[in-house]
Amino acid sequence: SCDAVDGKWSTGELQPYGPLPMYPSAQALNYGQAVFEGMKAQRTAKDRIVLFRPDANADRMIEGAKRLSMVPPPKDLFLEAVTKVVEANADWVPPQGKGSLYLRPLLMGSGPILGLGPAPAYTLVVYCASVGSYFKGGQLTPIDLIVETHFHRAAPGGMGGTKCAGNYSPVLVTQLAAKKNGYSDVVYLDAKTDTYLEEVSSCNIFVVKGKTIRTPPLKGTILPGVTRRSIIELARSRGYTVEEEPVSVTEAMEADEIFTTGTAVVVSPVGSLTYEGKRRQFGEPGQPSPVALELYDQLTGLQQERYPDPFGWVYPVC
Ligand code: PMP
Repeated sequence: SCDAVDGKWSTGELQPYGPLPMYPSAQALNYGQAVFEGMKAQRTAKDRIVLFRPDANADRMIEGAKRLSMVPPPKDLFLEAVTKVVEANADWVPPQGKGSLYLRPLLMGSGPILGLGPAPAYTLVVYCASVGSYFKGGQLTPIDLIVETHFHRAAPGGMGGTKCAGNYSPVLVTQLAAKKNGYSDVVYLDAKTDTYLEEVSSCNIFVVKGKTIRTPPLKGTILPGVTRRSIIELARSRGYTVEEEPVSVTEAMEADEIFTTGTAVVVSPVGSLTYEGKRRQFGEPGQPSPVALELYDQLTGLQQERYPDPFGWVYPVC
């Protein structure tokens, strides 16, 4: 962890996982100055441990910090912090292809303040945990999504493009209800017209029709996923046409295939989409769809150094 007081960041230190001392009047607890990242360290075919595009996570945290009037950590400090945490926890990185070490960099307004205003001090912590696949049933088991028609995740001019803590608690109610009804997760629609797909609770969404793949554009209401960006480039390099254009829920219901992307979910094929009581099944039940499978293989192959990395995305740690 490390701290910024009077706008200046100290060098960080490693400490065992445990509770943090916190003022009841800490800004983050009262007014929500908190942004975080999700990253994975993986053991690769070259028998080393690597991160994937950590500079993109650093940039996103810095942008989020600015949006929330926080003191952004310098990029070098962010990269040093995640690197040190991986090195110190190398024993917890699972064997190649068997999972990863999930890293959670968290920046918060830790300083005390009573009236509404930015915190007088900030804390950046990075904690980690070994993880396997995100959804039940394993990595390539198709997921069942339901389109949320009551709540929105983000509004134009709001915080949807930022990985701030406050974006996640409002969706728990819909996510829990969906899970209770047997769905894996929820797809949100745009708050203006209730017509276009935005994203899923913790991942971006892609819709396939023939050789064309479409994903909602970055207009500030969805998270600019690092995986989203990577999949766009990977798919183009494999001859797909990728459009960052609005996708209506009707188009999605008529698509050949849908998949979601994210650090946690990697590339997850969608087995069914339910909208206003109508359920559309994609492909054979239980079988991953072909484009999702191809891109999953390409992405994980690159992340685990089974395939060459022409993009320079792999970041060796130790
Ligand atoms: N959307 C949301 C709301 C998310 O929480 C995440 C996970 N960070 C994503 C999309 C995917 O982003 P990334 O590919 O950077 O993990």
